[in-house]
Amino acid sequence: MIDTLKGKKGLVIGIANEDSIAWGCAKAFHDAGAELAITYVHPKTEAYSRPLAEELDVPIFMQCDVEKEDELDALFQRINEEWGELDFMLHSIAFAPKQDLGGRVTDCSREGFAKAMDISCHSFIRMARKAEPLMKNGGCLLTVSYYGAEKVVDHYNIMGPVKAALEASVRYLAAELGSGGIRVNSLSPGPIATRAASGIGHFDALLEQAKQKSPEHALVCINCVGAYARFLVSDEAHLVTGSNVYIDAGFNIMGT
Ligand code: NAD
Repeated sequence: MIDTLKGKKGLVIGIANEDSIAWGCAKAFHDAGAELAITYVHPKTEAYSRPLAEELDVPIFMQCDVEKEDELDALFQRINEEWGELDFMLHSIAFAPKQDLGGRVTDCSREGFAKAMDISCHSFIRMARKAEPLMKNGGCLLTVSYYGAEKVVDHYNIMGPVKAALEASVRYLAAELGSGGIRVNSLSPGPIATRAASGIGHFDALLEQAKQKSPEHALVCINCVGAYARFLVSDEAHLVTGSNVYIDAGFNIMGT
């Protein structure tokens, strides 16, 4: 493994357990030499995330629910105190209330839509704002989207418009922050069996369809996503910004 991230400092938010996409990315960042800050969302989830944080020997391991501005502030304050700078950040989180996720977009509640948008999209904007002053020498902001942002996917429902907003935010942030050397991109993995994915109806059928229809007839794993994320946050990707990158065995190019 080449130390492409040696000396770099990164924040990873979204590790729920060892199935998380964020965990695949964190391992790849660590293996390439980066030092990491990792968060967990709630005291009840700390027990699942702590052994993973210890495995990567992270200097910063903190609670952070993005709905709580004080927790987000405390996280960035700690990063500033510990490192005084930040090179990259991975935002790998999403949430929608069960009732809204399970129904038609037509019927989703105002509150459910606002909550899904706040946690899954606007939190990325808030984090970008807080990261900007720490990225004095430039940096990279990464988030995670899905094909359902672009095309209608059965049972993806409310998350479709939310991810579409996330991808558009990536483009606007990239345009606004580019002069400061800050790149902004989204990864768009094919379906992976994670805790968040278990909330999407008929997810097994989505996995099966991905395998059948993709040119490579393969399912994506968190380590494959991590490998791409590692490249994107490295200096090797210094001219890549505003992109949404599919890691889906080619599924997105296929017609119906
Ligand atoms: P996951 O359940 O492992 O991760 C989701 C994370 O979101 C968890 O760590 C959870 O704690 C966090 N989260 C939820 N609400 C939060 C809040 N208020 N504050 C802070 N964190 C919060 O599932 P995952 O599949 O790894 O999801 C990561 C990202 O990947 C999500 O954005 C998801 O939409 C996206 N994605 C997943 C798939 C898939 O098939 N699994 C495919 C494409 C994109």
